[in-house]
Amino acid sequence: MKYIGAHVSASGGVESAPVHAHNIGANAFALFTKNQRQWVGKPLTEESINLFKEHCIQYGFDARYILPHDSYLINLGHPEEEGIAKSRAAFLDEMQRCEQLGLKLLNFHPGSFLNKISLEACLDRIAESINMALQQTAGVTAVIENTAGQGTNVGNRFEQLRYIIDRVDDKSRVGVCLDTCHTYSAGYDIVAHYDDVFNEFDRIIGFDYLRGIHLNETKKALGSRVDRHDSIGKGLLGMDFFRCFMQDPRFDNMPVILETPDESRWADEIALLRSFQ
Ligand SMILES: [Zn+2]
Ligand SMILES: [Zn+2]
Repeated sequence: MKYIGAHVSASGGVESAPVHAHNIGANAFALFTKNQRQWVGKPLTEESINLFKEHCIQYGFDARYILPHDSYLINLGHPEEEGIAKSRAAFLDEMQRCEQLGLKLLNFHPGSFLNKISLEACLDRIAESINMALQQTAGVTAVIENTAGQGTNVGNRFEQLRYIIDRVDDKSRVGVCLDTCHTYSAGYDIVAHYDDVFNEFDRIIGFDYLRGIHLNETKKALGSRVDRHDSIGKGLLGMDFFRCFMQDPRFDNMPVILETPDESRWADEIALLRSFQ
């Protein structure tokens, strides 16, 4: 079964996210558990935590299909001491918020080398950051998202994600989220070579590690390494791709999240995608 939703707003408190998701006909969703543009978030209140859990039960959202996203400021591969310390502390806080909310997954962009260390040294740091966070928490899986490879962002090649996974001690709590916009922009032709790309993913990383999907259209060309999401039906991937995706059982039973730019279209996008099954 496909579990589809969108990255919904949590303004006014995390407890509003399942309500927003329900209103667009979703059976999965993503959210930020704190303001994504600030280093330090207000602690979650007991009331907020309880309401979040109540709303999830009320609207039938299971933690397996909820994919929280961490703050954009965090760089787990930061080349400098101050930056990495701040990032690791903020990431631990994000993991602990997930624990408090009863969530099982935390999605994040791996990091950037900022032209100050090698790509490999950056990947080593990311793995070490993940190990540190996993040692101090329980029950939450670190879900690394593939990137478009914009600027000095790492994680655009499947081999880089594999390199990180290989260095994580607790393999049961590390996984991957594939963003379809990023995959295409990174140079993987999921339009003309759908089977080849996902077979390559399976060979290098393995579907066992796939914990979620960001299902986005893209405005930017194959291999452009530019990250610009578009609405379903408007970008370069095209409907045939989305039809194939929805009929592919390898993407069943995991959160499939729209991060498409026009939220007024989410309900229609979800209904359209479901019609392809
Ligand atoms: Zn994404
Ligand atoms: Zn993106």
